[in-house]
Amino acid sequence: MPTLTRSPWTLRDSEKLYRISGWGDPYFRINAAGHVEVTPQGMQQESGIDLHQLVMDLVARGLQLPLLIRFPEIVADRMRRICGSFEQAIERLGYPNVYRGVYPVKVNQQRHLVEEVVNQGRPYHFGLEAGSKPELLIALALLDTPEALLVCNGYKDRDFMETALLAQRLGRTPIIVLERLQELELVLEAAEKLGIDPILGVRAKLSAQGIGRWGSSAGDRAKFGLTATDILQVVERLRGAGKLHCLRLLHYHIGSQISMVSVHGRAVREASQIYIELVKLGAPMGYLDIGGGLGIDYDGSQSTNPSSQSYSLEDYAATVVQTVLTALEPYGIQPPVLVTESGRALMSHQSVLVFDVQDINAASPYPMPTEITSDAEVIQKLNQLYSEIQPETLTADYRRCQELKEAALRQFTEGSLSLQERAQVERLFWNCSDKICTLAYEQHQAGHPVSVDLLDLDEMLASIYYGNFSLFQSLPDSWAIDQVFPIMPIHRLDEEPRQWATLADLTCDSDGKINRFFGDDGQITSVLPLHNPDGEPYLLGVFLGGAYQEILGDLHNLFGDTNAVHIRSRPGGYHVSQVIKGDTISEVLSWVQYNSEDLVEAIHHATEAALQQGQISLSEARSLQRHFEDNLRAYTYLH
Ligand SMILES: *Cc1c(COP(=O)(O)O)cnc(C)c1O
Repeated sequence: MPTLTRSPWTLRDSEKLYRISGWGDPYFRINAAGHVEVTPQGMQQESGIDLHQLVMDLVARGLQLPLLIRFPEIVADRMRRICGSFEQAIERLGYPNVYRGVYPVKVNQQRHLVEEVVNQGRPYHFGLEAGSKPELLIALALLDTPEALLVCNGYKDRDFMETALLAQRLGRTPIIVLERLQELELVLEAAEKLGIDPILGVRAKLSAQGIGRWGSSAGDRAKFGLTATDILQVVERLRGAGKLHCLRLLHYHIGSQISMVSVHGRAVREASQIYIELVKLGAPMGYLDIGGGLGIDYDGSQSTNPSSQSYSLEDYAATVVQTVLTALEPYGIQPPVLVTESGRALMSHQSVLVFDVQDINAASPYPMPTEITSDAEVIQKLNQLYSEIQPETLTADYRRCQELKEAALRQFTEGSLSLQERAQVERLFWNCSDKICTLAYEQHQAGHPVSVDLLDLDEMLASIYYGNFSLFQSLPDSWAIDQVFPIMPIHRLDEEPRQWATLADLTCDSDGKINRFFGDDGQITSVLPLHNPDGEPYLLGVFLGGAYQEILGDLHNLFGDTNAVHIRSRPGGYHVSQVIKGDTISEVLSWVQYNSEDLVEAIHHATEAALQQGQISLSEARSLQRHFEDNLRAYTYLH
């Protein structure tokens, strides 16, 4: 593969290539050893945790790769930053009310993380948002912060309503947000039965929409939320039941990963107007809950790319506070408590998935044929083309090269080329492509324009790196919605990466591959520059996957949960606060109703029969049985 040689290679070059300061700041950077370093408390930390050393230590303790490493202090730091931004904006703009964040549990339900949010969130009265009955139970059991909100979104039944209402008796503040008109009757009946006044919210369907992948969370056809007509019906029904005083909150959620602050501004403006109308209709209100959507800068470009974010936390908070203030001012309405439900922005940075490269499939394994033994015309032409490739004619040369290859394949199918000749065509084609690609990159480096289809050569000529992980278990959004996560080696960053790679996972699914990465200019590329493992363990980290990925992950090919550890910093190092062993094969099999004892018994029967017939020796039989039983207790990934 062509290499972009800048010699000598420096840490700065790696930083630029993998854009780590763009997406990693203030938690991830490169240290003097050429390793990724983690500073879980953000910038103020002088010395961080050497991620490569940490992984080596964990492996030495017997934890196998792939490893999910969580840094709960990052969650605490993110929460401080989000709350801090709102507090500052409120103070600076003279907003006469407070901010109350809630964490949407669906983003990552892992107990230790939710506990971290509740414990670290106490000073900010940080609450939780539940979108289902199981999440409601988690939130009820864990959230004991006075004044913290427990926002109940999602579809609800009578059971859900009664549980939420009874939680008021524990001193909690559950707010039941009506997502559908039908829920109003359910909650009124439950309230009547229990003699408890509900604290109610309505979710509005805004016309302002998020854009990009999650844009359809709002708008007229959105799955959730009440239209203006519905909201008016709610008000009238509540008034009729003498319960209008229960309507306290207006909620909306326009989608996730909003890359422009103006989109937030438009939504807040529209919602403020609905809020004003609700107050005018006689509802007491008091809370405006603007949902999630606060973005993450996955590609580090600080742009309006769908995978980026062109605004800071401070911009976000200031826009929200100022917009509400300005909207309400002319009406003399008391500004509400501001509630946000940021999930992605709170949880993404918190974990790193580390896996080893098991094997590589080199891109151009075939050298140029030294001698052309065939006199077939198409082979002679390809051979000649190789020597005639010129920087000035790359596009035409590449087209010609493809035409010749296709002609040769046709001839093979018709029986006029032998398998030996087909192999020569293959080698000539690869070498022509490689030469074209190298010249194209030289042109690119020299600042000359290169036609795009030449850049597509990248992927064809890249090596495939086989990673010890399952995309479906650990990075489902990469497969399902083409989301791109920052991926980079966690060591050898003082060396120039000389291989261009795409990644394949362990599943036997052809979709189990990653061929979309962030290039050094922030654009999506199909290859990632990596080092040659040279027979040594080579470790890659996938970053910013702490939100949504864990619970969306599935058991495709029966690869189970990875091992997970929780790491906290302490002066001069770190300590391991939790070790959560990944699934064993036996556990994974039980999810699909296989009983390990039955399986062992079946193997015993089969070996017994083979022994009887003299097909297997006693020691082979014992060895097979031992392997079978050991494997049932083993990790689902490769050793
Ligand atoms: C998923 C969800 C969130 C979290 O959104 P992010 O974009 O991750 O912050 C917030 N509120 C509701 C109602 C949601 O469904």
